[in-house]
Order: sequence, then structure tokens, then C-alpha cells
Amino acid sequence: MERLSRRRFLKISAATFGAGMVTAGAPAGSALAQAAGAPEQGVRTVPTYCEMCFWRCGGIGYVRDGKLWKFEGNPKDLVSRGRLCTRGTGAVGAVHDPDRLRSPLIRRGKRGSEQWIAVTWGEALDYMAERMKAIKAAHGAESIALFKHGIGVKFIEHVLKSYGVINVTAPSYAQCRGPRDAGYTLTYGVGLGSPEPLDIANSRCLVLIGSHLGENLHNTQVQELGDAIGRGVSLIVVDPRFSVGASKAKYWLPIKPGTDIALLRAWMNVLVTENLYDKAFVTEHGEGFDRFVADIKDATPEWAAGETGLDASLIRESAREMAKHRPATLVHPGRRSNWYGDDSQRSRAMALVNALMGNWGQKGGIFINHNVKVPPYPLPAYPKATRPKVDNPDRRYPFAEEELSQGVRAATITGKPYPIKAWVVYSSNLMSALPNRKETLEAIAKLDLLVVIDTVPSEIAGFADVVLPEATFLERFDELNVVWGRQGSVQIRQPVVPPAYDAQPGWWIAKRLADKLGIGGAMPFKDIEEYLAYRMQKAGLSYEQLRKDGVIVGPPKPIYAADGAEVSFDTPSGKVEFWSEQLADAKLDPVPKYARPEEPPKGMYRLITGRAPMHTFTRTQSNPLLHDLMGSNEVWVNAAEAARLGLKHGQLVRLRNQDGVTTTVTRVKATERIRPDCVYMVHGFGVEAPLLRNAHRRGASTAQLNTRYRIDPVMGGTSIHTNFVSLIKEA
Ligand code: SF4
Repeated sequence: MERLSRRRFLKISAATFGAGMVTAGAPAGSALAQAAGAPEQGVRTVPTYCEMCFWRCGGIGYVRDGKLWKFEGNPKDLVSRGRLCTRGTGAVGAVHDPDRLRSPLIRRGKRGSEQWIAVTWGEALDYMAERMKAIKAAHGAESIALFKHGIGVKFIEHVLKSYGVINVTAPSYAQCRGPRDAGYTLTYGVGLGSPEPLDIANSRCLVLIGSHLGENLHNTQVQELGDAIGRGVSLIVVDPRFSVGASKAKYWLPIKPGTDIALLRAWMNVLVTENLYDKAFVTEHGEGFDRFVADIKDATPEWAAGETGLDASLIRESAREMAKHRPATLVHPGRRSNWYGDDSQRSRAMALVNALMGNWGQKGGIFINHNVKVPPYPLPAYPKATRPKVDNPDRRYPFAEEELSQGVRAATITGKPYPIKAWVVYSSNLMSALPNRKETLEAIAKLDLLVVIDTVPSEIAGFADVVLPEATFLERFDELNVVWGRQGSVQIRQPVVPPAYDAQPGWWIAKRLADKLGIGGAMPFKDIEEYLAYRMQKAGLSYEQLRKDGVIVGPPKPIYAADGAEVSFDTPSGKVEFWSEQLADAKLDPVPKYARPEEPPKGMYRLITGRAPMHTFTRTQSNPLLHDLMGSNEVWVNAAEAARLGLKHGQLVRLRNQDGVTTTVTRVKATERIRPDCVYMVHGFGVEAPLLRNAHRRGASTAQLNTRYRIDPVMGGTSIHTNFVSLIKEA
């Protein structure tokens, strides 16, 4: 490798991040290569699928006179149905983001000082591979961990696993969707996956518990929700905040934060004691129903009223409303379900209310979904690990189905059960994606190597030894996306424009890294097109048609039991488990129990967080188009509380939590749309990454305040709504 001292030293500045955009040449073998040479004229379109969030809507990229012009929905695609959300439409801004990473970087200054030198890909990958080899020699390949997010990681993950890496973790499991999947798996034997098989289009009653669809734009579901509202669906919204969904609801239940299981037990009590549940479904498919009934018999609405702050009559009436419309009543399972540390049990309680509605395989409930079978490419097997994974020692979280990121972090700090010496972080800002930044920094200090692969210089990139600039999703091929839904389908991601600057796609990075590590055989194809075409050919589907249309849709199949869809449950009993033997065996509650949450200390409020339609947490903060739509967050404070504190609407404040962590400045939104015992902020703002000039210190960070977290005893999820804050007036 060339000596670093011979290269130009760059303190990251406009020289690296502020210059005009140049293109790095069209990928060989693609249609774009034909356009190279003469300037391209006119309009052409390329279908691909979106990565502005994880929903993966099919879209069409438009290129006008050689420049990326716009990104719209693909009418042939079943996920987008021809329409994208705000973030998807704003994807063009990710390509044109003036702050995106432009070349590979190697750290020059102290970790966190954000001083690097710009290097070639060969130099960056040599540096990374040399250090990985040294770590493997000294500590074993198990001492290298991968933190990942999204489908783009596919080939990097494969190469690392081929090198012997076993500690591979997605923060989105313990920090987002894991508790919900555990709750459903324990009840029905299967998680709900993504997109969830929810027949919102045909629901007559939809229950949203802390799920603010409409603010949280899961495209397909929001489209179906809009249609459902248009035809008069009965909407029941449980939220401490009068959300957009609540504004359309027949019943709004402004619940005291942390008491959801009390409400759910009371709903179950009403449905059972008033004989409103689906007896035929429970008789045919239920297991342990008598013991379940005995468990909830004292959970009356009058008892729950004292816990939740809701009127007993409202609890009773809303339960009757659900029963009135069953089986076309659907309790939405939510997505980010890590709130208070009792989240698997809350998710299971929600699953049980759905079971009482008998809505599995029913129109307006949870449909039976399908996919298209696309065989894998025959890749070499991974080496056998000689040590266990570090994240969940002794299976202390017995129902964790994926690796726990905070567990990998804890092992990095303690060196137990064995040292973790390198992190490769793909497209995940761990400074916000993990609770308690102090612990993340403590772990980083123990590393011999931290590599970040991303499109922008995120907060975690600031601490990296090596930063690798990935092409944005509109500039690259990725793995095929096999979509589950009413009809299965397969989508392709392909470049609409060539990668800008010196950015490269994940598969390209993986292939070259494999060569540097001496395991080139792990990627036994010339390029990704050969890989994708092989898979499609094995599936008996046309690769050419997929490239042309962006999606191939499978044949229709029955999705309702009445039409012949198979209803079966992969639990130990083969039934819907109202009383869970598995949980009892693990010394956990077989029926979800309620525990009273801690009260906020005097002068403090519980901090709850959520999303805005134009941002996917920190991933989109720097995008100039989306930043224009929402450049900062605000803190929702109950109007009477604000008046009591002498805070006017628009007043600048900082938030300080119970551990003394204080945020940057944000504004007060004094409103009657929130309970007086909590405050609310949109997550993802207050970014501490100076190179993201649009986002740096705009608004306040909820992630910084998340110093105290509880771990879900069922599957190891980490809570987000267990911190309290006070408001400090800013001059
Ligand atoms: Fe893109 Fe929006 Fe679809 Fe997410 S929901 S994939 S951001 S269009």
C-alpha cells in the first residue's frame, strides 16, 4: 500500500464535500454504458425500487438530458401501486445531496475528530483487509462484527460471513420490530414480516395503538388507510397524543403512556365476559383459552380506568365497537414496538385481541400472503464457527430470533465472552440506532478497526477509521427483492444514473474486499448482473422483462380462508396460543400481565417519540429536498403545562433528561393535542455530524436523551420511552 504521507491530507472540508458533482462512468454492461461518450439527450426511464425507507416501493427514475430528473411510482408494482410517499419522491435529493461522501477515507486524526485523508478504493480496501487479517490472526474472525441495515448489505454480509464473521446484527431488530415479531410468533407461530399482511383495504374497524399511520408513511398501508377512511371505516386510536390518525377516529383513547397492557387486558375482559369474541375461531384454533380467561377475569374496564386514565365507558364502548365489525376488525400490530421494555407482551396482547376477533385469514383482517420462489445463487458454504455468538449469552432472552445489537456492543465493552475488535457498520447510524451513546462510545474505544459504509458522513462515520462511500440506491444494482403480499412479486434495483463521484455499489465493494481478503471464490460471478440473471433463470422468469418492468408479479392465489387459503399455525400446539406453555416454561408470563409504569419525577415529563412523513429518522436529514419540507423538530407540550411553566408557543428550549444530558435547542409546540404528563418529539433531529451541514444541530435529538433503557425479558428489545425530561428555557 502506498504510504499515507505521500497523499494529500484533507481535513474534511469543501474540498472533499463541497465541489460540484461529477460522474464516475457508467457501469460496464448496463444500458447506461451506451450513453457514455456522446452527451445523452431526451428523457429515458428506468424502473427500480426505493430505499428511502425499508418498505421497498417500486418506482421509475426519469433521466432528462443525462441528468436525474425525478422518481415516481411504478404503476406495475404492487407495493407502490404507482405512487411514492414524500420521502420516495425526494430520493432525487439523496443523489444531489452536496454533503454526500465522495471518496474512500482513512482516518488521520483522533477518532471523532473527523479528520481523514482521501484515498483510492485500492488503498482503503487494502487498509481494511490488512487490519481484518491481523484481528483474525490475533483473536479469530468471530472478533469482527457487522452492524447492518437494508438489502444493500447482502454481498458485504456474505463476504464477511465467508471470512468467518458470525456476529452479524441489525439494530432494527432490538430497537424496532423485534418485540412485535416475538409477540406474534409466540401467539400464531409466525412473525408478520414486511410488508405486513394486513387487509386494511377491507377492514371495517381499524385499531391503531401508538401507531401513527399517516405521519409514519408506510406507503401501501397509508394508501389503504386513506381509502378506508373514505368509505367510513370505524377508526379507534390509542395514543397519548392527538395524532393525525386520532383526528380521523371515531374513538380516541388518550392513554397514559406505559399502561397499554392494562387497556388490552380490559378489552379482552369485555370481549370474553360479554361473549363478543369469535367462538367458532377460538374453538377450532385456540389453545389454553380457559386458562387465559381465568387470567384476565379481574381486568375490568373499571380497574383499567384507574391505570390508563381512560373512562371505563370508553374502554367498554370501544371493545364493543371492535366486536361489532369482526372479523373485519384489525388491531394494527405497529412497527417500531420497543417502548417500555414490556413490548413483546404488549404485542402479544394485541395479537390476542386479533385472535378474539377471529380475523386470521379473513377479509378485513390478516390475510394469508404469498411470494414468488426465486432460488438462491449457489454460493460456497461459510466456515464452521468454533465459538458461539456474543449477543445473547446463555439465551438469557429466550425468544430472540435475531442477534441483539446492544449485546454485541456489551461484549465489545467487556471483552466477554471473547473480545470484539472490529465493527463494520453498513448504512446504520449507530449513534442514534442504539440506546445510550456513552456505551456506544465506550465500545468504540475498544476497537482496533471501525469501518463505516454509507452514502453520507453520518454521526457514526465521524468515529470511523475507514469510511467507504456507497452509491445511492438510484445509482446501483442490489439483490432482488422477493415481496410477500396478496400476490407475490419480485423487484429489481438497477442504476438509473451512474454512481456520482467515487462512490460504488455494495456488491462491487464486497467483491473487491473478498479479493483483498484472499477469499475471491466467495463471489463466484463476474458481476451482479450475472448473479441476478442466474437467479431469475432458475426461477423460470425473464430477467429482461424484470429489467424492463422493474417487477414481475406472481399468479393470484387465495388469501382468505373462505376462498381456500390454508390457515395453519406453527406454534408447538399447532394452534393460536392464548396461554403460552413456551412462556411459562421460560418462567415468563404465559398471558401478558400489566405492571404499573414509573411516574415522571416532579417537574419532568415522559419523553415519547415518533416520525414525520418526510424523514426516515437520521437517514434523510441531510437530503436538501426533504430538509426543505422539515428542517427541524419541535417539542409538543400540553398547553396548560406550557402556560404553567411560562413557555409560549414557539419558545426556544433545551431538554434535559434524568441523567443530566441536555440537547441542542428546539421550539415548543404548546398544544392541547397531548396529555400533560408527557412531551413528544419527532426522532432523527439534532444530528451531531458537522459534515451534514443541513442537519447539524437542527432541532433536538431524542436519541441523545435515550440514556436509560429497559431490556425486554422475552426477546431482548431495548426501550425508547423510558426517559424523563425537563424543559429549560433558552434566551
Ligand atoms: Fe420509498 Fe416511501 Fe415507499 Fe419507503 S414508503 S420505500 S420512502 S416510497
